[in-house]
Amino acid sequence: MSKFWSPIVHQLTPYVPGEQPKINNLIKLNTNENPYGPSSRVITAVEIETGNSLRLYPDPQSQRLTDAIARYHQLKPEQVFVGNGSDEVLAHTFQALFQHNKPLLFPDITYSFYPVYCKLYGITAETIPLNEKLEIDINDYGRTNGGIIFPNPNAPTGHGIGKDAIETLLKSNRDSVVVIDEAYIDFGGTSAVALIDQYPNLLVIQTLSKSRSLAGLRVGFAMGNAELIAGLVRVKDSFNSYPLDSIAISGGCAAIEDKAHFEYTRRRIIASRNQLATQLEALGFNAIPSQANFLFVTHPQYDAADLAAQLRQRNIIVRFFNKPRIDQYLRITIGTDAECATLVNALQAIING
Ligand SMILES: *Cc1c(COP(=O)(O)O)cnc(C)c1O
Repeated sequence: MSKFWSPIVHQLTPYVPGEQPKINNLIKLNTNENPYGPSSRVITAVEIETGNSLRLYPDPQSQRLTDAIARYHQLKPEQVFVGNGSDEVLAHTFQALFQHNKPLLFPDITYSFYPVYCKLYGITAETIPLNEKLEIDINDYGRTNGGIIFPNPNAPTGHGIGKDAIETLLKSNRDSVVVIDEAYIDFGGTSAVALIDQYPNLLVIQTLSKSRSLAGLRVGFAMGNAELIAGLVRVKDSFNSYPLDSIAISGGCAAIEDKAHFEYTRRRIIASRNQLATQLEALGFNAIPSQANFLFVTHPQYDAADLAAQLRQRNIIVRFFNKPRIDQYLRITIGTDAECATLVNALQAIING
């Protein structure tokens, strides 16, 4: 606390990301990073960009990248907004598109950045409990709101809902913006992008951090009706004209355009996830069916915090959330098959030890 802080700063509860420890030979399964590197076309594009042209400001509209994303998703460029990671896109969305005089609805168990943005922007949060299977039930969202947001698949559960459910929600909720955070959509969910032309209040947010293995490049984007996108652009141009540097713009374009690398790595991750789920279930874990690049698991006999601590002693880190309802769960990012095997062996040793 400081007398020099503004009142709002006193009230903030900042987001705490998963740790990035500097430990050698660590098996890092705690922040849903992609275990495979980005496309080699990204590396080439980034190298080309790191020359004398860095003296120039980047394109404030990131038009090349916006166009590449629009082409990929069969949208018009004016239906696409890009930002410095989807976290920044989310922040602008909270400020630009949620009505601040009514509560914003989101699940009780979800991405923990949402309540942080509510405090930052003075938005009232109303959390809607997941059902007893830790699933989103869209029938629970039929109440007065200034906006609705949830990830699909949800984090940290990995559970996804279908496009039909999202359409039902959009039909019954036409006066406020519905945001679907599709950070993990490429690992098996069904995207809501196809609904954009029909529903002017739908905003879909995606990121290159997970399925394109570019968490370090910081590229996220939103897709929706041109009116929503124009609102985001107004906030962006009142905050930072150049959220994406020239390296991110070029690397991002190459990532979107290399469909082969994307398909190959995402399929490998899906296959490894399904195999790991089977192996963990054989050890007595219950895994929520996942459409993401992580598994959310609980063991009826072993304390989750204790398991996380014991894995850590073996140089494996997974994510544990000390929160009501989920404090007996571990969120485990899907690594390479070798990393998954080491994890399974470690858990076997802990459990049988
Ligand atoms: C990882 C994640 C993000 C943030 O992604 P960045 O683009 O790296 O900022 C947003 N939403 C959810 C649900 C995530 O898991």
